[in-house]
Amino acid sequence: MKILVIGCAKSGIGAAKLAANAGQNVAIYDDKRFEDFADETKQALIDLENKGVKLFLGKRDSYIDDIEKIIVSPGVPLDIPIIEHYRKENVNIVGEFEFAATFCKAPILGITGTNGKTTTTTLVGEIFKAYNPKTFVVGNIGCAFSEEVQDITADSVVIAELSSFQLETIETLSCQICSILNITPDHLNRHGTMENYMAAKYRIFENGGKNVKVILNKEDAELAKLIGKTGKTELLFSSKESVEKGVYLENGALVDNTLGDNFVICNIDELHILGVHNYENALAAILMARAYGVPREIIRSVLLDFRGVAHRIEYVTTVSDVKFYNDSKATNVGAAVPGLLAMQSKIRLIGGGLDKHIEFDEWVELFEGRVAKLYIIGETTNQIIETCKKHGFHNYEAFETFEEAIKAAYNEAKRGECVLLSPACASWDMFPSYEVRGEIFKQVALSLREGAKDER
Ligand code: ADP
Repeated sequence: MKILVIGCAKSGIGAAKLAANAGQNVAIYDDKRFEDFADETKQALIDLENKGVKLFLGKRDSYIDDIEKIIVSPGVPLDIPIIEHYRKENVNIVGEFEFAATFCKAPILGITGTNGKTTTTTLVGEIFKAYNPKTFVVGNIGCAFSEEVQDITADSVVIAELSSFQLETIETLSCQICSILNITPDHLNRHGTMENYMAAKYRIFENGGKNVKVILNKEDAELAKLIGKTGKTELLFSSKESVEKGVYLENGALVDNTLGDNFVICNIDELHILGVHNYENALAAILMARAYGVPREIIRSVLLDFRGVAHRIEYVTTVSDVKFYNDSKATNVGAAVPGLLAMQSKIRLIGGGLDKHIEFDEWVELFEGRVAKLYIIGETTNQIIETCKKHGFHNYEAFETFEEAIKAAYNEAKRGECVLLSPACASWDMFPSYEVRGEIFKQVALSLREGAKDER
């Protein structure tokens, strides 16, 4: 079969390799030229060429004839000219994840949602690894399914983080168990409308029979509308009230009621992760594991060990009774709100960054009574100051450099307070990535001297 892979990121390169290994006639396309790629990608492209894959790079207006299938990398929008061209010719278009899934002999458990995917996928992955060492964690989490699938055997289990980009082209993929964590507006620049965005997410349970288990967050306004309408076996979790045949948070405990016996898996004060949003992630993970038959003791022991994922309300250190938390992944207001709500003491908050033309009201409205002072950096400084003024919050200061902001937050913090980096903005105005921003925060925090507070 003549296959064209679109997009030379990790997933595209993995898919081209997989298709070539399967003996197909493969070409790979990107609108960038060979010389525009980083060295690592250049090497991967050379390796592909050595496997017989044709490189079709930097050619915007010419097309290869007789293509029978297109495999699209998830980062590539579906309305670019080359895809439009082949769509008009009725060429079969498939996403990289779904293509890899056709080679997969093991059950796939999928996780999607607007926020919390990586945290939940990591936790589910840890639980399943403790149960079955042949667990593979793949997908949007940064590990291309195509790169792994040839090592996956029938006794393996696949835990997949699935983004709306990966789901929007789904035709046949079926997950044995899938979980939708929450739905709030996101990526509307790509999906156009909220309806399209939700339709993409809901493709996660479109295929397979009634036995497919769909796990839904009962407290999410959009997902609540879906209950009873999926045509599959639905299982619910709730952070507000008890549920039959599901799991829930009540009186500070995570309770498993899948067997109807309201069994306490653990108390939230035994966990290292913070905040109701994280308890929801934990509930989803417990329910996925129970739906697969993982014993309760294994789930409990992994939950008690789980320290969350770096850059998501990550505890860093305590210096002179001041705790430091790194929530650099909070790159929008929706993700920054849980960070504020999760803190258990007065907050010295570091925020601001790249201007994405979003509104900060919902975030700033929560400052009163929680935030002792806001330390602002980056492009959005003036807009955040204006929003603070609008909501009557006056304890803020702007800083030229990130380090100055962190040090001022620490120096001014009273014992028992915390310093939280939760910027509500992307990082690219001052840093190469949110990871680098978070790493610098951690380095500065770890370099502070214990006792320095008392010497001032
Ligand atoms: P995703 O992979 O969906 O982007 P992450 O687990 O990487 O999710 O978390 C991204 C950001 O969203 C972090 O700032 C985190 O604190 C916040 N977050 C995590 N889980 C949830 C949730 N269930 N609801 C809302 N926000 C969440």
